[in-house]
Amino acid sequence: MVIVGDDPASRVYVNNKKKACEAVGFYSEEYALPASATQEELLDLVNTLNSKADINGILVQLPLPKHLDDKAVIAAINPQKDVDAFHAVNVGKIMLCEYDFLPCTPAGVMEMLHSYDIPVEGKECVVIGRSNIVGKPMGMLLLHENGTVTICHSRTKNLAEVCRRADILVAAVGIPKFVKADMVKDGAVVIDVGMDRDENGKLCGDVDFESVKDKCSFITPVPGGVGPMTIATLMKNTLKACKLQNNIND
Ligand code: NAP
Repeated sequence: MVIVGDDPASRVYVNNKKKACEAVGFYSEEYALPASATQEELLDLVNTLNSKADINGILVQLPLPKHLDDKAVIAAINPQKDVDAFHAVNVGKIMLCEYDFLPCTPAGVMEMLHSYDIPVEGKECVVIGRSNIVGKPMGMLLLHENGTVTICHSRTKNLAEVCRRADILVAAVGIPKFVKADMVKDGAVVIDVGMDRDENGKLCGDVDFESVKDKCSFITPVPGGVGPMTIATLMKNTLKACKLQNNIND
């Protein structure tokens, strides 16, 4: 795990990942660089980790401080150790449905749908948000399972109307309590990816849980929903990376 600077949310995420490694018995190392770290220092560290045989997965916690180029850093990670699945090689493989790793948050959401026996095939799936780490791959995974997918963003017209079509609605917007009851169809499955802070600084999601919960058939809470699934998928990806790098077959 590589963390640069002292963003409190990033610190929490890295600590949670560290705890998860301990819980499942993975060896882990943390590299905490100061906010003043240079691009060269960060790339040198990634290169060192690429060549360490006892490290199978590399996580660079995003966002990086503004003076650093996150795209160049992600591109420097050996794709076989890219357990976040952010590298262009892994993103391309996901598009082609021939992947080694799936991006952790969307894959965690799919795992939840599977474990609750919620079918995706033929369903109207609406994803709000088109980021490279959540929205876009989320849409792709739903499409791979034969959902009819619409991806919305800040320029989408009539957002509420589009959302009301959804049998499965995924919110990945980053705005606290953005999805209100009038945006949700009766009986819809609502997945809240958001990790936001409300007006009192309390952790909340992108969905207004209280108003939406009685309208839908399933809803994920924040905290305790998509977040833990993301970390569980990260552990799964890391185990897979270790197996691939050591030619271990299941
Ligand atoms: P992001 O990169 O900021 O993307 C937000 C997306 O929401 C963008 O595509 C943006 O559209 C869209 N959006 C913003 N305002 C909108 C509006 N008014 N109407 C419709 N769409 C709008 O965020 P992200 O990294 O995807 O993260 C989204 C949320 O998920 C955040 O709360 C983040 O903390 C959380 N998150 C949680 C986990 C987890 O493990 N639970 C993991 C990752 C992220 P444009 O593209 O047009 O700007």
